[in-house]
Amino acid sequence: MPTLRSLTRPLLGAALALAASTAALAQAAPAQAPRWSFAIHGGAGVIERASLSPEQDAAYRAALTRALQAGGAVLARGGTSLDAIQAAIEIMEDDPLFNAGRGAVFTAAGRNELDAAVMNGSDLSAGAVAGLTTTRHPIAAARAVMEKSPHVMLIGPGADSFAASTGLEQVPPAFFFTERRWQGLVQALTEQNQPIPPRPEGAPAAPIGGLADNDAAYPPLNERKFGTVGAVALDSHGDLAAGTSTGGMTAKRWGRVGDVPVIGAGTYASNRDGCAVSATGDGEYFIRATVARDICARIAAFDPRTSTETGECADALCMIREIRIVPLAARREIEDAESLGGKGGVIVMGRDGRPAFAMSTSGMYRGEISSDAPQPRVAIYADEAPR
Ligand code: ASP
Repeated sequence: MPTLRSLTRPLLGAALALAASTAALAQAAPAQAPRWSFAIHGGAGVIERASLSPEQDAAYRAALTRALQAGGAVLARGGTSLDAIQAAIEIMEDDPLFNAGRGAVFTAAGRNELDAAVMNGSDLSAGAVAGLTTTRHPIAAARAVMEKSPHVMLIGPGADSFAASTGLEQVPPAFFFTERRWQGLVQALTEQNQPIPPRPEGAPAAPIGGLADNDAAYPPLNERKFGTVGAVALDSHGDLAAGTSTGGMTAKRWGRVGDVPVIGAGTYASNRDGCAVSATGDGEYFIRATVARDICARIAAFDPRTSTETGECADALCMIREIRIVPLAARREIEDAESLGGKGGVIVMGRDGRPAFAMSTSGMYRGEISSDAPQPRVAIYADEAPR
């Protein structure tokens, strides 16, 4: 028969081991949050080492690095989370590697219809646009909706003309055209037995014998929807913000809009809850799961600071819980969305400036930079840490 001693000894051992690992973790974790912190994504999806050539891999890492540097530079000089997010996302919107701005996927009618959203965690103000066709930087249009209109979401030609009225650059729709995305549309419509629309007005003539811009930097054609871009930031004033921009899904029709511009689905930020979230993945499922808002609610519900009298995280256990809560909330939410049938990923910034990345796909283009580690670190595949 087991004696009391034989029962308590392992428990005591486990408790001591836990205390030791807690102390070690608390020591390893910097007591001070970084002054500022920034993270981005460039879409999640079936991204495997075998599917990207070394040149493609390097091109994505370089593009992520450029965007991180732009956002980091804003934050390092005391700029706001919102300015950092806009700076980084505009760079990715201009980069044909990503499904946002130039390089966006095509609708079944052969158009680029662009969606974006931004949210300011300090006052919960938010702006979103859907179905833009002429505004060069949809993220700037979303911000203009937030700051210069009494509304939260504008769509279609009205959204473009509002953006133009605030002075945002307008471009011909063919500005967003890339041959690779056009060929992706042709392939998708062929598979679906759907008619192929005429090439858009102003698009370059069809290349003879292959893809004119299918150079080494372009990913495979079967990348149908992923490639959305997003950013989350904590600035040196303690403010959190999030932004996301996308072309949506290849061959979308009927004015389809995904999760990106739906506040609380693909984008959310709240200082009070201590979170900023940008998502990428199967929009229909991410809307139904209210992914971004849900992550914030999970974080707020388990915020260890609310259980301390001073609201400070002074002891080791509180610090451990704080370090764990953001990645845990992100992971659980992605699991929940996946159980509905939706795959994708999220980036989440907590109030302690430690970003979390979670995904149910084999990869997500992503990266981070902070005042503590001012060299951009990027990653692509699910099993690698940003470096
Ligand atoms: N979430 C986007 C949408 O459904 C697509 C993506 O992130 O890849 O429009």
